[in-house]
Amino acid sequence: MKYRKIIATNPFVLIPLYLILVSAPKPLVMAADPEPSNNVPTVIQRVESGWNFAREMAAKYAKARYPQYFPEVPITKRTQFNVFTMDQENGYGNVWWATIETNPIPADLARAQRRVARLGSRIEILVKSITNAPPVTLKFRVVSDDSFNATCMVGGRITVNSGVLDVTRNDDELAFIIAHEVGHAVARHAGETMTREIMRKGGLDAAAFIADWAESQRHIQKGTVTNILVGLDVATVLTTAYPHKREQESEADYLGLMLMAGAGFRPEAAVDLWRRVASSRSDPGSSIARAVAKYCGTHPPDSARIAQLQAALPDARRFLQTER
Ligand SMILES: [Zn+2]
Repeated sequence: MKYRKIIATNPFVLIPLYLILVSAPKPLVMAADPEPSNNVPTVIQRVESGWNFAREMAAKYAKARYPQYFPEVPITKRTQFNVFTMDQENGYGNVWWATIETNPIPADLARAQRRVARLGSRIEILVKSITNAPPVTLKFRVVSDDSFNATCMVGGRITVNSGVLDVTRNDDELAFIIAHEVGHAVARHAGETMTREIMRKGGLDAAAFIADWAESQRHIQKGTVTNILVGLDVATVLTTAYPHKREQESEADYLGLMLMAGAGFRPEAAVDLWRRVASSRSDPGSSIARAVAKYCGTHPPDSARIAQLQAALPDARRFLQTER
């Protein structure tokens, strides 16, 4: 009875449990049996439905018990798992931003900085008008770097590389890059990623504890622990961290498209830009291809991004009408 109570009320038990349940890859299951005469579920299908049921119940319980850790992403309405508060995220953002702000903007980037700030503030005004979430403190800064890259650090601190201004052809295209980063900020992806990383590292620590014990008891050979832990680290990055990062990128693309459209930019420009980026990549010798390579390491493939952006265009046009 005592143990049951500890398990039912302790966030240090529940949150890792919830995370394991929601983040573990689904068991590999074949497609449903095409033969109508033979639709008795297989053992694997029974295990899968039981597993999904357990995941759903754990998620429901955790959300009801600790709603503050499960904020909703504006626009997409996705429920995320984030143990950080907005104040904490802004605090971390301030510390990091101080290192950026101490460097003065080079004279040759002053115009680019004004342009990015102008487009960014148009998107920011829209964000303030549509989200009832705690305000994100957006800050924009152009940095001298030839690669086609922009980042959004925790707390909505956005840097745009000067390389982005060379690749984008007009305000609409540049607005998509900025709006994509604002999408990360609005969806609080940095806090969500930090939460998942804490949980992942916590899981690895627990595994290390058990493995050390097993080694001390001579259940496993000496030296095996390191191999197990390195393997687990790589496996969890590949099966949970990277796919999650790609999901966030797709969400930021969708949010970016809605935000740029709502702020009065032409959403079709996002598709134009990405088509050009994708075609430049098939020619590895081109300077654009080299510049974009860095940006896309953990991003969805270009073809998927273009397809997703195109599929979201009708939503963006509707969003434009409702926000204007
Ligand atoms: Zn991104």
